[in-house]
Amino acid sequence: MTRGVAILGSTGSVGTTALRVLARHTDRFRVAALTAHSNAVLLREQVDRFHPAYVGIVHDGPNGAGADSGDWRTGPECLIEAAVRTDVDIVLNAIVGAAGLDATLAALDSGKRVALANKETLVMGGSLVAEARRRGGGDLVPVDSEHSAILQCLAGRPETEVRRLVLTASGGPFRDWPADRIESATLDDALRHPTWRMGRKITVDSATLANKALEVIEAHYLFGLPFDQIDVVVHPQSVVHSLVEFVDGSVLAQLGAPSMEVPVLYSLTHPDRAADAAVPAFDPVAASPLTFERVRDDAFPALRLGIAAGRQGGAAPAVFNAANEEAVGLFTAGRIRFGDIARSIADALDAFGGLPSRSRSEVLAADAAARRHVREMF
Ligand code: NAD
Ligand code: MG
Repeated sequence: MTRGVAILGSTGSVGTTALRVLARHTDRFRVAALTAHSNAVLLREQVDRFHPAYVGIVHDGPNGAGADSGDWRTGPECLIEAAVRTDVDIVLNAIVGAAGLDATLAALDSGKRVALANKETLVMGGSLVAEARRRGGGDLVPVDSEHSAILQCLAGRPETEVRRLVLTASGGPFRDWPADRIESATLDDALRHPTWRMGRKITVDSATLANKALEVIEAHYLFGLPFDQIDVVVHPQSVVHSLVEFVDGSVLAQLGAPSMEVPVLYSLTHPDRAADAAVPAFDPVAASPLTFERVRDDAFPALRLGIAAGRQGGAAPAVFNAANEEAVGLFTAGRIRFGDIARSIADALDAFGGLPSRSRSEVLAADAAARRHVREMF
């Protein structure tokens, strides 16, 4: 019996990667549902190729392929509809940003596996996600390469045996730039990621290192370890995807060429592995040298701010995430400077970091307040 997979955000970088992987594993998986934000042309191609039973597009433009076809669902509700269908076993949440929250909660509430690329929603609603998981009995498996690496290294050992998680970071395009030059980096500079080809928002997040802050908080919620036991190290080659240090001093790492195909497939098969001959053999000599550096905290303030927000708890992680998302939007629209992204985050955290986050509505209120605050700063 094949397992049904819903891909939310199928037209994005992770979504298209997932379809490439699924096309090779039709013996195990079937594409049951696809949703996209607005790229109707690409969604139409995907539907013609994979024939999902359910198709949703959040924004169907005037010439949208969905409107003509008649059977595509529209509006933000389509994300939830796709996530809870009975023919869906696994929901791959590859949406970018806070928009993915309700679909994650709905899928977990109805007992599905959520293969989570959409780290922003775990950061903003960590405790809501944990509750939905408990209530519905669903499971949450990371797609993010660092967290996939950690999950594989942990191999089911209890957290009492773990001394420390070490997340690797490529360092982004500004790894060796002086701080004052980073301050006024352009969008083109920020989009020149050295090792990964990804969507725009995460590429900018990788340049500020806000992405690594989101990942530290993501690791805290996924693996239940305190922030003191989660470190970050710069590793420019992106070959060692992360490390786990155990209490006896032994350190395990997971390695591979930087390709999201491997963690995407693992998120679907975990704890099993599926043979995939399309992934080339790993050549340690070709991958050499592998180097590691400390993070330059002073040059990348967003990392420190995000980790502090994670430690603070309450709505602070949601405020960090929302302020960052809003500021990245303004930066990509050419309205603020690169350095203003971290300034926006700091300001929003000062103003709203202390808000409560006991319910979905409190989390959304903190998210909205942070966004409004950032828009009004400029
Ligand atoms: P992307 O911008 O390439 O794709 C985003 C997808 O989400 C698109 O299909 C789009 O249609 C959909 N989408 C956007 N806004 C939406 C909305 N409001 N409602 C519904 N759908 C919406 O982004 P990406 O690079 O694929 O990243 C997706 C997620 O995966 C992000 O959370 C990112 O941090 C995470 N991630 C990405 C990579 C990578 O290699 N790209 C690696 C690790 C984690
Ligand atoms: Mg990552």
